[in-house]
Amino acid sequence: MNKEELMIIKERAIQNHIPIIMDDTLEVIVKILTKIKPKKLLEIGTAVGYSAMCFSEYLQEGGSIDTIERDEERIEEAKQNFVKVGVQDKINLYEGDAVDILPTLDKKYDVVFIDAAKGKYPFFLEQALRMLENNGVIIADNVLYKGYVMSDYNKHKQRTAVRNLREYIARVNEDSNLDTQILEVGDGLAISYKKAVD
Ligand code: SAH
Ligand code: MG
Repeated sequence: MNKEELMIIKERAIQNHIPIIMDDTLEVIVKILTKIKPKKLLEIGTAVGYSAMCFSEYLQEGGSIDTIERDEERIEEAKQNFVKVGVQDKINLYEGDAVDILPTLDKKYDVVFIDAAKGKYPFFLEQALRMLENNGVIIADNVLYKGYVMSDYNKHKQRTAVRNLREYIARVNEDSNLDTQILEVGDGLAISYKKAVD
């Protein structure tokens, strides 16, 4: 993988205000991936492909990433970026709304990374659980949303997002098949391990 090119892509994304994964969040996820060595990883929210390209380093031999993006400009850029960095064989991009695409998928994933529309997190969780391997992990970014989620914040514009993020957190905490940690890293990261069934 061409790391120099990856760093150029990262800097350009930051300049263009594309909300790519934060360094401290990436560090936490890399530790998890290093342990799990996933064969199949699903990402919801590709943007220009930065996080997917970072994750692709930690797949097991022959492993791959499916990632979903709906913004046409970002889709085009992500495709070009995968080629520039030389990871196009490991990353498969689904083009369209994850709300439409997820129900059509029927695969098993070791890791699901949720990083898209906050108002859809409960739906993404439902779909992730349907496809999660035993001992798999669901990681959701931005779950604390600038502190709004844990405050009494109720401003109109972000109200739906906040309500749905709160619902996401409640569901992962209540699910007896999951073991969940919420970290204050970046914009809030929820890590939910599926307990092994015996
Ligand atoms: N994971 C990326 C950043 C993703 S930003 C990284 O760290 O590099 C969130 C992206 O999700 C945006 O590009 C947005 O267009 C996309 N998105 C939001 N809602 C979506 C949906 N319902 N379906 C598909 N993509 C979505
Ligand atoms: Mg994010």
